[in-house]
Amino acid sequence: MNQVQHVKPRIPPRFCRLRPLQDEDRMISPSPPIPHLSDNSQDDYLYTLEDRRKHQHQAAARSQWTNHEGLGGLGGWDVNTRMGWLTTAGVLALVVPSLYMYTASIVSTRFPALRNKRICILIAHPDDEAMFFSPAVMALTRPGTGNHVKILCLSSGNADGLGETRKKELAKSGVILGLRKPDDVFVVDKPEFPDSMTATWDKAAIASLLRSAFAPNLARARSSNTPPTASIDVLITFDDGGVSSHPNHISLYHGAKAFVEDLVAGKPGWESPIDLYTLTTVPFVRKYTGIFDTLPTLLSWAVGAEKKDKKHPGGLVFLSGLGGQGSVTTAWKAMRQGHKSQMVWFRYGWITLSRYMYINDLRLVKIRRE
Ligand SMILES: [Zn+2]
Repeated sequence: MNQVQHVKPRIPPRFCRLRPLQDEDRMISPSPPIPHLSDNSQDDYLYTLEDRRKHQHQAAARSQWTNHEGLGGLGGWDVNTRMGWLTTAGVLALVVPSLYMYTASIVSTRFPALRNKRICILIAHPDDEAMFFSPAVMALTRPGTGNHVKILCLSSGNADGLGETRKKELAKSGVILGLRKPDDVFVVDKPEFPDSMTATWDKAAIASLLRSAFAPNLARARSSNTPPTASIDVLITFDDGGVSSHPNHISLYHGAKAFVEDLVAGKPGWESPIDLYTLTTVPFVRKYTGIFDTLPTLLSWAVGAEKKDKKHPGGLVFLSGLGGQGSVTTAWKAMRQGHKSQMVWFRYGWITLSRYMYINDLRLVKIRRE
């Protein structure tokens, strides 16, 4: 028969410091998990009270992360929530562009549009047409619209001495965006219209320039009391916010408005031969929301744009596609290949995120008759 030998356990010195287990100690639960021990190794796993407190604290911390009924089921965060986020991101990546493209097709076919018009886009600097107006330029030059679009730029963008380069870049960009030929781009390079962040251009000087370009017979029409004619039907420029508050942009608004108002000034029965549309400046937070600004834009159009006059729609909305000719990729090409001198690092942020690369909304300016 085997003889069982009873061996008195060896008690480590630190255990000797323990007092008898008190009630408060029994409240500490659960006991720390003790791994399966061989008989002769138990001594190594005897715990002091401090050890137990420490393990209890760790166990509580662990349970917080694994308790689904506790702190919002953070235990599921690692796997379930992460999967939830991935699924949501995947659905958004599919649904949002699809919804946007569907909306863009509705807008291009059902919303008010300009057809068979002679249109001038009035800008302050080479690259304004691509960075701010590209959805409008591409939509208005689309084959089948019958429009003839030209760009008039009132400075060569010579602030950094690149004026001559930028003139060529503008012509190249304009053709990429859909203009018929480089000659449809005109650049005015005069000292009274300097490319400057601090210069406000004289609105009377702008109005005078526009008058000589598009309504040179105005004075004769007035003297003969016949309504004036013009060489364009539509003039498009910035609004009084200038998108970026650039004083050159804002000057264009005031100059263009003065020009169009002058066409019919003092003649209540006359109708302006030119419709002036301005590009809506949106608040800062909306500028960088890309296609997500579609809904606010459409709501603003639905609420604020006059729709009764079919010949002169009060609001125009243009949504660029996401791929192919005439889409935002064409606008990116106009910037990257057209305006090479301007493609510094932060411009990539603008052309990727800015809603103006995808969305344009224009408003018809009401003409004051005095
Ligand atoms: Zn500009």
